[in-house]
Amino acid sequence: MAHKLQAVRGMNDLLPEQIGVWHRVEAVLREVAWSYGYQEIRTPVIEKTELFTQSIGDHSDIVQKEMYTFIDSGGENLALRPEATASTVRACNQHGLLHNQQRRLWYLGPMFRRERPQKGRYRQFHQFGIEAFGWPGPDIDAEVIRAAAGIWGRLGVEDVHLQVNTLGSPQAGAAYRRALRAYFAQHRRCLDPDSLRRLETHPLRILDSKVAATREVVAGAPDIRSFLDGPSRAHFDGLCESLRHSGIQYRVNPHLVRGLDYYTATVFEWVTDQLGAQNAVCAGGRYDQLVEKRGGRPTPAVGFAIGIERLVELVRGQGGDAARPVTDVYVACADDQGRAEAVSVSEMLRRAGFAVTTHCGCGKLNKQMKRADQSGARVAVITGLVQTAEAVQAKPLRNQGVEQRVSIDALVDWCRTYTERS
Ligand code: ATP
Ligand code: MG
Repeated sequence: MAHKLQAVRGMNDLLPEQIGVWHRVEAVLREVAWSYGYQEIRTPVIEKTELFTQSIGDHSDIVQKEMYTFIDSGGENLALRPEATASTVRACNQHGLLHNQQRRLWYLGPMFRRERPQKGRYRQFHQFGIEAFGWPGPDIDAEVIRAAAGIWGRLGVEDVHLQVNTLGSPQAGAAYRRALRAYFAQHRRCLDPDSLRRLETHPLRILDSKVAATREVVAGAPDIRSFLDGPSRAHFDGLCESLRHSGIQYRVNPHLVRGLDYYTATVFEWVTDQLGAQNAVCAGGRYDQLVEKRGGRPTPAVGFAIGIERLVELVRGQGGDAARPVTDVYVACADDQGRAEAVSVSEMLRRAGFAVTTHCGCGKLNKQMKRADQSGARVAVITGLVQTAEAVQAKPLRNQGVEQRVSIDALVDWCRTYTERS
């Protein structure tokens, strides 16, 4: 026998049995985005590598260790996208989407990072994100956070908690980085090698370290709040006030930073303790300089990304994975005369909104009825038994009643009484 190939490590097949909950989650994501006036954008999975190195930052884990890059046969240096904010900004600039206008956008699709695979952390995973371009004030920060809260609400997901922080203005950020550098330099001996490496270049990143010993040092690190200038403080206070006004609970986490370089001012994360070590379901913030850095006009922006695998896991954990039935009606035919009619009756039922499985191939009627039972359908329709084109035999499945003769005109209504379709 030929050798069976496996999928690439960290990249998952989503099997038919698992897809129901994904569909439900995706439908809610689209619905909530729509309800807030966000429009979908789809960008390619492959971009020029420099888009990410220049946007996310050379010192980030993503760029240093996690990106899938390759030189294509034309000699171009390309990358599988590790995230979609940079691509969205590129597309906005390329197509002039931000010319004298504000934009609310969303995306959904696969992202790629070569991380160590574990529960909730994969090499191909999916993100849903929203991005709002052109609003400088804290009201839009609160809006995107409310949209995330709306998603948890509609999916019945509880137990996700919001943490917010601000990285301040670029000037405040610079002063804070100096203070952090001085503090961490004093505790150099307790830092892990990654953090030591970041001490000079990106002391903020040390705050994000997952190494236990480093986390202890981080606990005593200076607080950004003593470095904020008036406008940064007012922006952050405005956000907090708006969240309180919306009844959204939050915790200010002064050490919350993001792993990507482009963030400014507001940052936030929704975390849960239902998912073990991979506890962040959604992360985002402001990136007021990215559009300009990528060649556009100065445009304030804010957004977030949700990890769909982690969200699906939460929805499953709360019993929300009831899949849509594969089929409502199974159409069998008793003999060759009934075959054409089976097809036309099936099409009629599909037009009426049912999911219909038409028996293909021949076979004894009792075998076909066994298939009908296995299919999960609520009813079976049998053509060919009734010697008139105006009626068929119809049988409720799963002990819902007895077989009967139903006229074609009445069939749609009859099927409705036995299925959940209305
Ligand atoms: P983490 O700290 O868990 O590595 P991150 O800070 O790298 O997350 P972002 O780049 O902000 O994450 O991505 C937003 C969200 O995407 C995360 O909160 C998470 O839900 C999800 N996510 C990120 N990386 C992965 C991955 N490798 N597999 C599955 N989901 C992921
Ligand atoms: Mg990460």
